Amino acid sequence: MKIKEIIEIIKQDLNTTKRAIKLIQTFTPNYFLHSFLFAFDLAAAQYIGYFLAAEITDEVTGGKDIKKMAIMVAIMVISELVLVLLSKYSWRRIRVNELITQQWEEIYLNNKSFSMDYKNMEDPEIRAKRQAIVDNRSQGGLAYLVSRLSHIMRNIINIVFSIIMIADMFFNHSDRPLTGIVAFADSWVASLLLGVVIIISCVVSFISVQRVESKHYIINKNISATKKIYSYYLGDYLDDSKACKDVHVFNQQELIGNASERIHSDWISLIKEKNALTKKYGEKRQIIDYVVLGLIYSFVALKAIAGTFGIGSFVKYATCIQKLLWNTSDFSLMLSMMHSLNKYIEDFFEYVDTPTEMHYGTIPTEKRMDNKYDIEFHNVSFKYPGTDKYAIKNLNLKFKVGDRIAVVGMNGSGKTTMIKLLCRLYDPTEGYITLNGIDIQKYDYEDYLKLFSVVFQDFKLFSFSVGENVAASVDYDEEKVWSSLEKAGMFERVKAMPKGLKTPVYKDFEEDGVEISGGEAQKLAIARALYKDAAFVILDEPTASLDPIAEHEIYSRFNDMVKDKTAVYISHRLSSCRFCDRILVFDNGQLIQDGSHEILLENPNGKYSELWNAQAQYYAENKA
Ligand code: ADP
Repeated sequence: MKIKEIIEIIKQDLNTTKRAIKLIQTFTPNYFLHSFLFAFDLAAAQYIGYFLAAEITDEVTGGKDIKKMAIMVAIMVISELVLVLLSKYSWRRIRVNELITQQWEEIYLNNKSFSMDYKNMEDPEIRAKRQAIVDNRSQGGLAYLVSRLSHIMRNIINIVFSIIMIADMFFNHSDRPLTGIVAFADSWVASLLLGVVIIISCVVSFISVQRVESKHYIINKNISATKKIYSYYLGDYLDDSKACKDVHVFNQQELIGNASERIHSDWISLIKEKNALTKKYGEKRQIIDYVVLGLIYSFVALKAIAGTFGIGSFVKYATCIQKLLWNTSDFSLMLSMMHSLNKYIEDFFEYVDTPTEMHYGTIPTEKRMDNKYDIEFHNVSFKYPGTDKYAIKNLNLKFKVGDRIAVVGMNGSGKTTMIKLLCRLYDPTEGYITLNGIDIQKYDYEDYLKLFSVVFQDFKLFSFSVGENVAASVDYDEEKVWSSLEKAGMFERVKAMPKGLKTPVYKDFEEDGVEISGGEAQKLAIARALYKDAAFVILDEPTASLDPIAEHEIYSRFNDMVKDKTAVYISHRLSSCRFCDRILVFDNGQLIQDGSHEILLENPNGKYSELWNAQAQYYAENKA
């Protein structure tokens, strides 16, 4: 690697760390101050101890001045006591700040995810990025970074103290006539050589740690990917009661068992690989450390034999050089770890920097009691990100206030995509949509979304209370929730629940939660749509698991409930939508027919007639 490249890497590392520190300081402003005070107090207590212990020992073996010794002992005890107590205070602050960092990091990440463009939330690559950040947090998150930085700070303070303590040893020489190895040890050449040995040992450990850490980073990423697949089989599949049915009926235990065993063994071998690397590096480092330590002890011992200093100073120098060596080697280890740690932090920043491409607009939507909101698609085409195929092609369409619109078509014909564009989950690739003549991208996004109530086919209820689920909020108007439940046909069922509106839905977290059937969940989702009281209500096949009669009943009831609102019903069962005054037929991303049931049937070769006849035949056969 060229020097230029290394400088570039260091620069990039410094920028990432700087940005991370800035971010951390916004929520724990005193973190680094306390880290410094903690490291400084602790090191000062230790080194004052080494210094005074050496002075006392030299006094015991030399001058034997009891008063001087007593003063030194008193200074040692008092200073150490004060410094250790001060360091304890900082330590407690550090622990609290570390916990805050952990929590804050999670909140920051979640807020970013919530505010992301929907298309990014759906993007598997971006989702995988988030997963990797969550999985690697314990070995590469912001909280981990702060503990690493504190560690580095401790290393630096210890290195400075050690150098101060041993500096005079290199310049003090014995005034006795010396010969042989003792004379050599007391020479400046030996001092210089010792310095070189220390530097070489640090460089060697730096390079080997560098290699190990970049391998660790790759292994950790593989572990994260493997863990995800493993939890898919064991968590999402085996633990899910719905999936368990399939597992039993199709006797898939062996299939899933084999898959999870295979992944588990991949996982174990990755962990083994990681441990083997750590062990190999650890052993190498220990050998180097002990050889260097042996050399240092010999050097200091020979200088003591030469009479350069007393026995107390010998112990002090030996201890401080050992500390210097350990801290410089640990410092280089920390620096190289910082490089791989920065890769995790870069992943974090890359995720939180995911650009917002949607235009969120500023114009407030008009608040109209008469719900007179006209929506129009102007030659709209749309391709999903990363695909070449148009999911919607040249769509021109106008919704008039109070319309009852059915959207029908084969699977994959673009019905749901049209709704996603309408609700601005995505923006058109070409063309535009207007609300009362103004491009919907110009409206304030949240304000615009207030106009829509959608029950998606794959709607989701959460493990919150019934009331919170229906209102989609912690605070809710109980009367309005009951009235929505009544309209959706869930009043009696919820009334009979032990805690009424406060009953938790599902038993995920609460023992007194209620499990509800698919049909009941659909009714709750419909109640949620009614509670929102939006100008447009859209049902996107939420009744797919119901029989045609039940679906027809829900659709007709819903139709009565929505009154003057504009309602859009998507269904693959044409019979459910007969009551609609307007039927839109989609095929291959295009709107190919638009009209009432009767008018569309007048064209016997049209798609609608084809679908209608196919389904009518099916029902006729079933009846027979
Ligand atoms: P429908 O609701 O009529 O069943 P959709 O609107 O869901 O059809 O899908 C229209 C087309 O867009 C299909 O070809 C489908 O495979 C594709 N599609 C839907 N969702 C995505 C997505 N998130 N990413 C890529 N392609 C998608």
